Amino acid sequence: SGHSIVIDPGHGGSDTGAVGPTGVTEASVTLAVSKDLQSILENSGARVTMTRDKDVDVYGPYASDRQELQARVNVGEYTPGAEIFVSIHCNAFSNPASNGMETYYYAGSPRGERLATLLNEELEKAGGLFNRGVKTANFYVIKHSSMPATLAELAFVTNPKEEQLLASPAYQMKLAEGIARAISRYFSGN
Ligand SMILES: [Zn+2]
Repeated sequence: SGHSIVIDPGHGGSDTGAVGPTGVTEASVTLAVSKDLQSILENSGARVTMTRDKDVDVYGPYASDRQELQARVNVGEYTPGAEIFVSIHCNAFSNPASNGMETYYYAGSPRGERLATLLNEELEKAGGLFNRGVKTANFYVIKHSSMPATLAELAFVTNPKEEQLLASPAYQMKLAEGIARAISRYFSGN
């Protein structure tokens, strides 16, 4: 309650993101989980800013990656009092057996690392998938956000079993509840 959180549902609009074997898109999953998360946080008294809340590009259709990702960073930067930036994605790989969940932070951000670690713990508990760990990366949105930032890869949309889980509203809600718990722990210091 009382905190200000930026949620970034990855992809959208002209960019579906990764697509699973039966056609589930990363953009649809990230939006569904993010909207569930928004409801949970707002019902708890938090202030939530979404980089997008429907199936659209944030900068505009067919922009460069840099333009699109900077537009998402800007949503956070231009939100007065925004405290953390949480970017939601799904993983993809050519081998359909690849599976599991992982979370990221930008190296050199201790608060980003803390947030990514809590998110990793809670996503493991909520989703029950193989835990690929907490990792560093230079992903644009976590590198260029001035506030503590994390990026979650919820599961592999290219894995048939995980694709079905990601498409399930009940599973989407479970993941959102896990992310909300991680955010709550981040602010309460447990
Ligand atoms: Zn993605």
